[in-house]
Formats: sequence, structure tokens, C-alpha cells
Amino acid sequence: MVKGLARKIAEERILPVRAELDEREEFPWDIIKDLADADMFRIFIPEEYEGLGGGSLELCLAMEELSRICSGVAVSYAASALGVFPLLEYGTDEQKRKYLPQLAGGKRLAAFALTETTAGSDASAIKTTAQREKGGYLINGTKQFITNGGDAEIYTVIALTAKEKGPRGASAFLVEKDTPGFSFGKKEKKMGIRASSTRELVFRNCLVPEENMIGREGMGFILTMRLLDRSRPGVGAQAVGLAQGALEAAVDYARKRIQFGHPIISIQAVQHMLADMATQVEAARLLVYAVARTIDSGAKNFTEEAAMAKVLASDTAMKVTTDAMQIFGGAGYMRDYPIEKMMRDAKITQIYEGANQVLRTAIALELRKRKGMRE
Ligand SMILES: Cc1cc2nc3c(=O)[nH]c(=O)nc-3n(C[C@H](O)[C@H](O)[C@H](O)COP(=O)(O)OP(=O)(O)OC[C@H]3O[C@@H](n4cnc5c(N)ncnc54)[C@H](O)[C@@H]3O)c2cc1C
Repeated sequence: MVKGLARKIAEERILPVRAELDEREEFPWDIIKDLADADMFRIFIPEEYEGLGGGSLELCLAMEELSRICSGVAVSYAASALGVFPLLEYGTDEQKRKYLPQLAGGKRLAAFALTETTAGSDASAIKTTAQREKGGYLINGTKQFITNGGDAEIYTVIALTAKEKGPRGASAFLVEKDTPGFSFGKKEKKMGIRASSTRELVFRNCLVPEENMIGREGMGFILTMRLLDRSRPGVGAQAVGLAQGALEAAVDYARKRIQFGHPIISIQAVQHMLADMATQVEAARLLVYAVARTIDSGAKNFTEEAAMAKVLASDTAMKVTTDAMQIFGGAGYMRDYPIEKMMRDAKITQIYEGANQVLRTAIALELRKRKGMRE
């Protein structure tokens, strides 16, 4: 049902405007409203907070279908889930009651803010501080590259409550958009996923009430690592959807394009490229689904599998969109076809939520720790 619904919205509502959204770098508010009306934001929220109680698999299916048509729209949707996960896992009942129903209804979007100019792959290098004051915490610092920045209403922000403790001194806070001292800086002009907004968040003596801390003081990094383990299959699903869209477009084009008197799909060199693309997409899809199911089964540790799904699917998306462009020939290089957009959109999946090189190191670390054969 989730897959069918997401596909319907993607084909009926996103497809007709995707080139325009990309060209104008416009946040897709109308489509976000359609997704909200179709209860898509309820999928990842428990029933007791007005959600549908779905899990990682449902979210991945929705991401895949939206990304098959437009990864920029899909990311705007997924970034809200990213902002919500810490609250779901570590929030108090009171915090959940206050925020989750609004987020489930899609009336307000969420975002997650970790990255800073000095802290990308090395998240422990963050400098934003949250100093304890009477009535709450005073946040100071600047976050960069935040998806849904400026458009979301609720932000999960990671800041240092005890600078001297390094990563163990980080904590997570819910910050509402209209909090005094919280403003937005530069909106990035991007290569791909251009329908999504990516902005700087600026905190200058921004007082956040004590009850807006998620979890306890010092839990910011544990929470972040858990969050990224959980969200990486979602990036994998984004990559699978993108690759699927490129594969379908390439098959369609190869059937129609005539050279040497035949459709190019009758050329064995082209057939083999298409066969490899289809095989790679299917392999990535199955790994993403398997990891999503592992997460939904309540498994405690899935760092390695989540990293594998993200790495395999994103490398597949980059390869498949590049090969699809090759099959389109010169036409694919032009903006008349969606392939050049798909190739631009694919690149980011290898970079965010852990650059693939960093994730390969994480996978290798898990391998080193393991004794004997895997169960
Ligand atoms: C469009 C977009 C949206 C984003 N959205 C968000 C968001 O919503 N919230 C948020 O908090 N952040 C967000 N980010 C930030 C994103 O997660 C970081 O860009 C990413 O983690 C990489 O950090 P960096 O860009 O600083 O690259 P760097 O850390 O400078 O790394 C550059 C390159 O160096 C290599 N490298 C670095 N360290 C290692 C290592 N230890 N081992 C091997 N290789 C290494 C990798 O190849 C890496 O790609 C977003 C970024 C972009 C571009």
C-alpha cells in the first residue's frame, strides 16, 4: 500500500514538475502538502502519537518510489524523519505528545543538525555550545548544510554541553524555528537534489528550555550514531529508487533510438550494459530491504549492515546513472531528458550520512572485531 501510494503521488504530482523544481531550486511545498494529505508523514510515527506505526521497511519503500521520480523531493521528506528519529528513540512521553502528532500530520517538518564547517566526517569536532543557564541552555554556534533548513519548524540540534569532555560532552536539543536567537544563514546552491533546501542554521544566545533536551546530557553522540545507523538504509533506498528510474529511462530510450537501422537495444553491447545495471539495482534493493527488516525485527546492532546497504546502493546509483547517460548518448547530456539530473542527484548519496570511504572503514572495524564466522 505504501509503495503504491508513493508511486501514485510521484507519477501524478512530482513527475510533471520535477524539471521545473530542479531548474528553479524550489522547495516543493505543494508536494509536501500532497504527501501530508496522503498520510505519508504518519508512516514512521507510532500509532499512539497519531502515526501509522510503520517501520524502516515502509519508510524505505516510500523513499524508493519518490526517488525513482525525484530524489530532491524524496530527501525533503526523509530529512523530516531524520529529525524525528532521536525524539522517537530517546524522547520523553511529554515531548512526544507535544511534537509527534504535528509531525505525523505533516503540518510541520523536522530537520537534523550536526554538521559544521569544522565538523563533517569528524563529527566530534563540533564547536556549537549549549551552556546551562537559569531556565534552560544557551546555544551558540553555526550549523552548515542542513537539509530542510529554513523550511522545517522543528530542529534536532547537537551541541556541546561540556566542551572539555569532547564527544562525550555533546547533547541533543529540540529547537523550534521561532525561538529568539535562532536564524538562518546562506541557502546553498547545489549540483543535485535541488528541490531540497540546504541552509546554515545560526544560533546566537538562543535560549532553549531544559525540557527540550532529548535524552540526557552527554548522550548527543550516542544518539547521533544510533540515528545514522537507522537512517542509512533510507539513503540506500533513495539510491535504489534513483537507479531504478535511470534504468527504466535507459531501457525505454534504447527501444526507441534507431541507429544502423535497428533500435540500439538490439545491440549486444547495450544489452549487456542494461543487464548489469538491472542486476546491480536488484542486488542493492535486496540488501536495503534486508537491513530494513533487520532493524524492524528489533536487532540491537546493525552498524555494519546499515553501512553496507548505503555504500552498495549509492555506488550502484552512481554507476547506473552514469551508464544510463552512456546509453542515451549525447541526448542524455541535454536537459531535455531526466538522465543528467539523475546523475547529478546520485552523487550526494555517496557523500552524506557518512562518506562511503568513512563507512568502508566502519565496516572493516566491525570485521576486525569479529571473532570467527558470522552467525
Ligand atoms: C546536500 C547536503 C545535505 C546535507 N544534509 C545534512 C543534514 O541535514 N544534517 C547534517 O547534520 N549534515 C548534513 N550534510 C552534511 C554531510 O553529512 C557531510 O557533508 C558529510 O558527512 C561529509 O562531511 P564533509 O562534507 O565535511 O566532508 P569531509 O569530512 O571534509 O570529507 C571529505 C572527504 O574526505 C574523505 N574522508 C574524510 N574523513 C575520512 C576518513 N576518516 N576516512 C576516509 N576518508 C575520509 C572522504 O572521501 C570524504 O568524502 C549534508 C551535506 C550535503 C552536501
